[in-house]
Amino acid sequence: MIVLNSKNKPTLNYNPVLDNIIGEGAFTYLARAKEIARTRGIRIVSFGIGQPDFPTPQHIIDEAKRALDEGFTGYTETAGILEVREAIADYLNERYKGDVKPDEVIVTTGAKTAIFLAIATYIREGDEVIIPEPSYPAYAQVVKLFKGKPKYVSLEWKVDTGGFLLDLTRIEESITPKTRMIILNNPHNPTGAVFTKEQVDRLMEIARERNVIIVADEIYDNFVYDIEFNSVLSYEDWRDYVVYVNGFSKTFSMTGWRLGYVVARREVIRKMLDLAVNIYSCAPSFAQKAAVIALKGDWTPVKEMVKVFKARRDLLYELLKDVPGFEVWKSQGAFYMFPCVKKTLELTGISSEKELADILLEKYGVVVLPGILFPDKAGKGFLRLSFATSFEDIREGVKRIKEAINELSGKK
Ligand code: PMP
Repeated sequence: MIVLNSKNKPTLNYNPVLDNIIGEGAFTYLARAKEIARTRGIRIVSFGIGQPDFPTPQHIIDEAKRALDEGFTGYTETAGILEVREAIADYLNERYKGDVKPDEVIVTTGAKTAIFLAIATYIREGDEVIIPEPSYPAYAQVVKLFKGKPKYVSLEWKVDTGGFLLDLTRIEESITPKTRMIILNNPHNPTGAVFTKEQVDRLMEIARERNVIIVADEIYDNFVYDIEFNSVLSYEDWRDYVVYVNGFSKTFSMTGWRLGYVVARREVIRKMLDLAVNIYSCAPSFAQKAAVIALKGDWTPVKEMVKVFKARRDLLYELLKDVPGFEVWKSQGAFYMFPCVKKTLELTGISSEKELADILLEKYGVVVLPGILFPDKAGKGFLRLSFATSFEDIREGVKRIKEAINELSGKK
């Protein structure tokens, strides 16, 4: 029992497991940036939160409106309407030559809820979950909620050859009899890495040899720029080892619609449904109708957006390379660049990338995220920049970063 104040009010006596859970830094910086823009009237340039700056394609919006007008506003099946589960299965099967069935899919309120269901379904007290780091924070938080233990394994970082890679030897060595799960986020947030077929092949082999589950979050699977993407759903035996997470937020620029999905073998989906119904009943009904059109309709806007993102990635890379002390690897996926700024910190005498990010925000109006926000420690000394922002802001933002570093290192 924790005692939070002398009166020990029962409402203050919350579950101490929550003390181990951290919020998501990207959202904190978003709020801070809005506050600074409002109170000081500064034009903020944001490389912060990861969301496409494109509008949701019009035909998807029109379908949601039509659904609302037709009164499609009630509860749906917890798994999601059959049409959308069919559309998801068709999409995945066509894309990854898989054999997913509609009753192996649950539509969720964003990919985050899919992550929650995946982890909640398996993790018991003391279970170990291997998380390649730096990592999207949600995985570890849910693991801790269920008294599991995140076991972080750093990605290998080779700035000149290959960027961020899974360290498969260390992943394998980290497996113990308590290991139940390995998280695979591919394409990867925050580094922008896309793990190769060879790496994913080997990870699947490890899963088979050591009997562990792979929770695969492939929410950025449409944001892949230079290499072929290899989904875990393309392995014939995925049902034995994989719980799959994806969603509509990034691909269709639908972050506020709150639509994601989880794919798993039928027996597990039945259990997950009992959990899901008690958490959110179902995903928003009219949004599900729109999701069918998103998958089955015209993909031109998505393709155009990805083309633009690739050009922005190229621009951001070229510009960041010239920032004093930045060591930059040109990311291959998602919409993030994750430069190492350890040399910049030396140049400027700034203590950490967190302090640098704070100075950039407070004094120069630029939002970048400190690598340490992506647990555990491997992100220390790195910054995450999202290039889901305009060419103009990319130019302006990097100009301000350069100015800041020149000023801070005494070079005007
Ligand atoms: N997984 C990853 C790797 C993400 O980056 C995000 C969003 N930042 C999510 C899941 C959550 O997506 P959603 O908004 O659909 O919940």
